[in-house]
Amino acid sequence: MTNPVNLRSTPKAIRSTIKNIAEIVSNSNYVVGMTGAGMSVESGIPPFRGADGLWTKYGTPHMNGYSDFKQDPSGWWKRRINEEIDSHIVELRDALNSAAPHAGHFALAKLEKQGNMQSLITQNIDALDEKAGITNLIEIHGNRTKLRCIDCGDRVSLGDFVPLYAPDACKKCDGIVKFDTVMFGEPIPYDVMKAARAEIDKADCVLAIGTSATVRPASGLFWIAKAAGANIIEINPSKTKLTSICAVSLHSTAGETLPRLVEALSN
Ligand SMILES: [Zn+2]
Repeated sequence: MTNPVNLRSTPKAIRSTIKNIAEIVSNSNYVVGMTGAGMSVESGIPPFRGADGLWTKYGTPHMNGYSDFKQDPSGWWKRRINEEIDSHIVELRDALNSAAPHAGHFALAKLEKQGNMQSLITQNIDALDEKAGITNLIEIHGNRTKLRCIDCGDRVSLGDFVPLYAPDACKKCDGIVKFDTVMFGEPIPYDVMKAARAEIDKADCVLAIGTSATVRPASGLFWIAKAAGANIIEINPSKTKLTSICAVSLHSTAGETLPRLVEALSN
């Protein structure tokens, strides 16, 4: 049954909804979290879509980034050095460089540690989930602090070092290396999509956090889980396409709600 609770709800109603979510989570065998742009927004990273989105501000970028890159990888790196890239990318990069995990990220790490969440699938590329300590993590759109070979899929962590010039060819197969972040027009890497699907197939409860569930193919995973009988629980400030299929929908932020869910599950 859908039980939408919004920010105007009384503290009592919010408390009872969180209790309800805690009950479903603790009665589930395999809980998978799925996070979207809303999670990053709470760390000060602007989204692409929506009223405050980068695309609304700068216009929609051209959508064939991946084919441009493949045609001329060294030209792509040169344009990057000279900042001859979309303005929205420059603003995004600055925001990403100063972002840190918030209370919601740390709460998810706690849920994993105390056995209430088995894995997290994120659509975010900011590496904040990893920083918060989440270990069973699938970054469906890649991780901005890694490089990936487009031929064999080998990944290398960069740490704080972000290369300015085109990196060397892949050490394993001599293939072309790019940032792990999935570009426009680039398919989700096969290994990642397969791992995400395997998690969803095991799940009897999926926590949809800060996602409008509009970006394919990631959003399709919710409907696959629902069709297989999993409970979908939504935590998002506004109503989404998912709301009508959710067992519980709490219209609030991750930073507000998730620490309280951790608390409810610890009692
Ligand atoms: Zn390779």
